[in-house]
Amino acid sequence: ADHVVVVGGGLAGSEAAWQVARLGVPVRLYEMRPKRGTVVHRTDRLAELVCSNSLGGASVDTPAGVLKEEMRRLGSLVIEAADRSSVPAGAALAVDRELFSGWITERVSAHPLIEVIREEVEQVPEPGDGVVIVATGPLTSDALATSLGRLTGEEFLAFYDAAAPIVTAESVDQSRGFWASRYDKGTPDYLNLPIDRPQYEIFVRALAEAEQHAGHIPDELKFFEGCVPVEELARRGPDTLRYGPMRPVGLRDPATGRLPYAVVQLRKEDREGRLLNLVGFQTRLKWGEQARIFRMIPGLEQAEFVRFGVVHRNTFVKSPRLLHPTGQMRSHPRILLAGLIVGVEGYVESAAAGLLAGLNAARLVRGEPPLVLPVETMMGALWHYVTTARAEDFQPINAAFGLLPPPDEPARGKKERRAAQARRALAVIDRVAEEVRRWTADAPVPLG
Ligand code: FAD
Repeated sequence: ADHVVVVGGGLAGSEAAWQVARLGVPVRLYEMRPKRGTVVHRTDRLAELVCSNSLGGASVDTPAGVLKEEMRRLGSLVIEAADRSSVPAGAALAVDRELFSGWITERVSAHPLIEVIREEVEQVPEPGDGVVIVATGPLTSDALATSLGRLTGEEFLAFYDAAAPIVTAESVDQSRGFWASRYDKGTPDYLNLPIDRPQYEIFVRALAEAEQHAGHIPDELKFFEGCVPVEELARRGPDTLRYGPMRPVGLRDPATGRLPYAVVQLRKEDREGRLLNLVGFQTRLKWGEQARIFRMIPGLEQAEFVRFGVVHRNTFVKSPRLLHPTGQMRSHPRILLAGLIVGVEGYVESAAAGLLAGLNAARLVRGEPPLVLPVETMMGALWHYVTTARAEDFQPINAAFGLLPPPDEPARGKKERRAAQARRALAVIDRVAEEVRRWTADAPVPLG
């Protein structure tokens, strides 16, 4: 009856289940491993880290650091596990993956209000009087993905993620380009960065020769012609890009009065225009290679990447059309989504989405209004982004200072501005954390 069902015991699902139980509401947590595996998970542990053991920057001068600190203050299980299992990793918080997921598995399994059930859920459960959280991640099983697709509408569920890199607008030297749309049709929504012939040739050669990720995507996957990785286009011939995503037609450069030899087009990624997407630059290159090569583009020498391009298997929904910033589905308010499927990217971001979904699921069961996190917090800014971004080409995103509103007080330089944003985020989260502590004190059953 009045309980929460969490589907998926990954980063988001484990955190969500924990938060529900903290608020005194019973939870059933379904995890299909080890009965049914995925192509990337190797163990039967909850919250297994499928790839790197790094949870990103540790200090609050990084966006990942701010996000982790917010979660720590809100009582995150995943961050407590990370702090307890950390290994030396310079400026990053990296963990011993066995200790990390082992500890989470133990804590979750031992909690008197959490029942862990090792079964594949093939259909999104009916919430009835309870609440359901779907947190099945990028490798959601086929049966459940089909059921979720039915619930969201097929066109709102993506299976592959072919995303171009995103940079912060403030890090782009906009004086090197011009804002215009092709043939001046419509509003000037594109920042066009012209490239001359010698630069273009060097760029294409570097792109064709760069190192790419292996393994994230099955080889049998045929790329849709619209989303062939740029390095693949570069390899097809010296002019392919110039006739593809870098074509200059209809883009007369006001500085010279001529068409450039080639252009890179950047388009606003968010409503506020703080982020810009390199249009058509979906890529499988290694992240370091992307930074090195895309910074060869005139105007992008200092580019700050909030997300690198990827092409991999990824199940996620079109959150801008489907979700409230509480994690609830607009069409089914007792079904919440959490983790990577809502359109955040990264271990910590996924767990963060689970944290809010867990609190809100418990509140709904308790008959209390769900929480919307203020956009001044990194967690709130992520939810704001995924529920308000452009829906047409929506892609998962990492934490970034560019998602936060500008600081209230004037700040000199990037460092000061970020410090002010981080300070404000943590001050706001402290108030939220205070309230969450009151909710846990009200919990009808003693804490586990
Ligand atoms: P998961 O952690 O995958 O959890 C989902 C859980 O649901 C899994 O345990 C799965 O077994 C279970 N499940 C699925 N379907 C069902 C079902 N029908 N019934 C019951 N259980 C089910 N992020 C990083 O920060 N760093 C990285 O290095 C990194 N590498 C990645 C590599 C790959 C190949 C992929 C695909 C993603 C990577 N990510 C990485 C992105 C993302 O951070 C992780 O995928 C993260 O684990 C997402 O958290 P989640 O809770 O949403 O999903």
